Amino acid sequence: MVIVAERTQVTAKDFKSNQKSTWCPGCGDFGIQNAIQTALVNSGVAPWQVLFVSGIGCGSKLPDYITANGYMTLHGRGATIGCGAHLANTKLQVIIIGGDGDSYGIGIGHMVHNMRRNMDVVHVVENNEVYGLTKGQYSPTSKRGFKTSTSPEGAIEFGINPLALALAAGATFFGRCYSGDPKYAAEIIQQAMEHKGYALIDFLQTCPSYNKIQNNDWYKEHTYKILDENPSYNCKDPLQAFALAMKDDPRYPMGVLYKNDERPTYAEQIPVYQQNPAPIIEHSLDIPTELFEKIKAGYV
Ligand code: SF4
Repeated sequence: MVIVAERTQVTAKDFKSNQKSTWCPGCGDFGIQNAIQTALVNSGVAPWQVLFVSGIGCGSKLPDYITANGYMTLHGRGATIGCGAHLANTKLQVIIIGGDGDSYGIGIGHMVHNMRRNMDVVHVVENNEVYGLTKGQYSPTSKRGFKTSTSPEGAIEFGINPLALALAAGATFFGRCYSGDPKYAAEIIQQAMEHKGYALIDFLQTCPSYNKIQNNDWYKEHTYKILDENPSYNCKDPLQAFALAMKDDPRYPMGVLYKNDERPTYAEQIPVYQQNPAPIIEHSLDIPTELFEKIKAGYV
């Protein structure tokens, strides 16, 4: 969550990148990029106030295609770098971004600890239920029976349930949206950015190259907005959210499915920030010059 008083007037042009996208035509990543840029503009966050941290994968190329601070790390490690950057500069809006393989697979260990620590970051998982960049292997969210090059007779594993996982691990915000409706997705992302604490966005997306079943028509039939179907749904009630996560329904509920504003963030509880809430990068080092030079010499 960035400091509202420092938000400025920005337009979509401010986030435009001169890099040419290498995504396949019709890829859901275009809708995700559109939604994130709209959310940033609507939030009034300037490019220099945002840091995108990604891992490896098709969607992890996104920091190249948006003008803002960006850091592409190792596979699955966006959660660690994003967490470190946030703790060093709590005024930055940190957005960790990666696919379902990157985030729910190799990076899942880092992700659940960011959840339970309530790191004040947004983690967007571009969930197309397949590994796209490496040409179509089944992923941690692939449905049982999904046929790919690595599961020619159908995957025998059950896919991860992101909402149940987030609730069990202590995430304080869970939102879900879909790449075919970027306007609605932008609203969910903006709420995630405004949330004080860890926010996970399970961003469903199409992969026309390697997931030919879950195309736009399929998603239209298999998604619904939670408040349209159940106007009394209370996202602040963890039992309702758990019941929704465990409901036997082939459709995906979308919207803000869980939100807890009561828990302190990790940064709020550590002594250095209790003594001085300014970002650590603005703190005085307060150590003798000779000692600082000695420490520095050890790294060069
Ligand atoms: Fe998008 Fe799939 Fe192509 Fe990757 S392989 S760019 S996810 S359509």
